[in-house]
Amino acid sequence: QAKAEGRAGWRFFDERMNRDVAALLRLRAGLRRALDRGEFELHYQPQLDLASGRVIGAEALLRWNHPDLGRVTPDRFIPLAEETGQIVPIGAWVLEQACRRAAAWQGEGLDGVGVAVNLSAVQLQRDDFDHTVAAALARSGLAPDRLELELTESVLIKDAEPRLAALSRLKALGVRLAIDDFGTGYSSLSYLKRFAVDRLKIDRSFVADLADAPDDDAIVRAVIQMAHSLGLRAIAEGVETTAVRERLRALGCDEIQGYLLARPLPADAFAAFVRDHHAALDSAGGAVPSLP
Ligand code: C2E
Ligand code: MG
Ligand code: MG
Ligand code: MG
Repeated sequence: QAKAEGRAGWRFFDERMNRDVAALLRLRAGLRRALDRGEFELHYQPQLDLASGRVIGAEALLRWNHPDLGRVTPDRFIPLAEETGQIVPIGAWVLEQACRRAAAWQGEGLDGVGVAVNLSAVQLQRDDFDHTVAAALARSGLAPDRLELELTESVLIKDAEPRLAALSRLKALGVRLAIDDFGTGYSSLSYLKRFAVDRLKIDRSFVADLADAPDDDAIVRAVIQMAHSLGLRAIAEGVETTAVRERLRALGCDEIQGYLLARPLPADAFAAFVRDHHAALDSAGGAVPSLP
């Protein structure tokens, strides 16, 4: 009897595994054609300056509209694209697209709104990556300081020496650098000094329950203080409630990003959101509103 159950158990496992593998193969095959077929889209999530109440930037977040599977989230396809190297052309498309969009904002009443693009370690490994960035800036006409590149800590720790060279070439273009998901990576902080970082993005795992978790409060407070003593700005990701926003304000956090303000939005909806938001601010006579 145990044997039979065991077999049944294995069969169940096999079937599920087959399904998972089939789904993976389908994604992998689809990914190869997705760029040519125009299945990618960027959404933009606003980043708010707490002092002025104004939107100062957007994070570009990649979406894949799969013909049969619908919208596939980046957590499912970015790792695949990194494995196959597809992330290199996809990432170049993201950069180009984000730069063009942000350049257009400058004449559309969204002046000063910059764009942040997520980078994968695989992109940074390419010798010519700084050319890819320079080309996106040149073709779009976007001012370099309106572009921010987001890297995770792990990217900076691995093979620090070649990274240092690659990043100094990027910095020489005049772009900004942010550390994404800050606090979830390695504990060595020396890289903050070595790489010319501009901004720390406090990971949302520390932010989500900030209003009622003393440990998170202590961590977030320390990160903000450290950022400021190094001359960096601090932005909190994943802000979902006004209680968290107010706590961040009290702790001296510079900027926030999260569902409280807006979800990542298609480009047109993003522009409309910012215009409405700023119009509301201006009609309030510049008083910092009790927003979102
Ligand atoms: P990330 O860079 O840390 O992006 C923030 C993620 O948090 C986004 O998920 C965003 O939609 C989500 N988020 C924003 N506000 C809130 C909130 O208030 N609550 C919660 N629960 N979540 C919030 P998304 O868009 O699914 O992206 C996931 C990850 O995929 C990103 O994490 C980034 O690492 C990666 N990714 C996205 N686009 C790109 C890209 O163009 N290139 C590369 N290499 N990676 C990308
Ligand atoms: Mg990011
Ligand atoms: Mg993040
Ligand atoms: Mg992440």
